[in-house]
Amino acid sequence: MQPRVYVYTNQKAVSLQLKELLMLKMKKRGIAIVPQGQPFDYLITIGGDGTLLSAFHQYQSMLSTIQFIGIHTGHLGFYADWQSYELDELVDNLLAVDQKDPVSYPLLSIEVTQQDGTITKYLALNECSLRSNTGTMVSDVYVKNRFFETLRSDGLCVATPTGSTGLSKSLGGAVMHPRLDAIQLTEIASLNNRVYRSLGSPMIIPKDEWFRIEPSIRGKASMFTLMFDNVTLENYPVHAIRLQIADERIRFANIRHTHFWDRVEASFIGRNYQPEIKLNNQLK
Ligand code: NAP
Ligand code: MN
Repeated sequence: MQPRVYVYTNQKAVSLQLKELLMLKMKKRGIAIVPQGQPFDYLITIGGDGTLLSAFHQYQSMLSTIQFIGIHTGHLGFYADWQSYELDELVDNLLAVDQKDPVSYPLLSIEVTQQDGTITKYLALNECSLRSNTGTMVSDVYVKNRFFETLRSDGLCVATPTGSTGLSKSLGGAVMHPRLDAIQLTEIASLNNRVYRSLGSPMIIPKDEWFRIEPSIRGKASMFTLMFDNVTLENYPVHAIRLQIADERIRFANIRHTHFWDRVEASFIGRNYQPEIKLNNQLK
């Protein structure tokens, strides 16, 4: 069956131009580009990782039926690993991809219990972080129902393996291979001295364990900033938050396999980085 494709872009001129070009190339090959609101099999994002994160949040109810493909227009492009000058290869291979199993990555399930008892669930692709902006956040940290530590910090972050190269890495977290079904907690500016002690290093737990965080400020229930991926929720009356690997996974089309460590090398070491070939050649 011909693949049904939906194209999602950011609003940059170069992304919109590339979308036109891609749609033209796909039309020539008889690939159906569906309008918004119709069912599709492949979601192609054009932009940066932020664009892919937005698309993920918009279409998260369809994760079991869709596969993502990220085209990169001048950002870091950790998830968006197709270059703007590779459209022909992408279109050619889209017709053959049907037979291949997609590559899937773990997601983070976030369950927030508010101070009034309301429970809300979210899903993240990269990470979830909780912060205080009005004083030291004092968090009781439980691992799988067992009290582990009281952490005093500006906040904390829990990341998925593919999110481990995002915010988590800036907080000193390890880069994790996404074949691992695990999540990683990092501290944000923790207090560690004679009086106050927390683990102080990143902590990685497996799929069947979870973190439960109960935050307070100056010994009282308070308002916090809850962030996940590119979403920020301010003044959130969090009582507790439970973080665990989700049942759902995100799937990427297995068109060409980029070795995970090649992607890390390209994004962070850049030994073979070549100034990007200008799109102009293609747009002419
Ligand atoms: P952004 O401010 O554009 O993101 C910051 C940078 O992180 C961008 O270069 C982005 O790539 C890159 N990025 C996103 N996910 C990544 C991943 N899984 N691995 C490696 N790099 C990644 O904001 P955004 O585009 O909406 O992305 C939100 C994400 O940015 C958050 O989930 C968080 O992981 C990350 N972030 C990091 C810091 C930090 O390190 N201090 C601060 C804020 C946000 P593109 O340029 O391709 O978008
Ligand atoms: Mn971005």
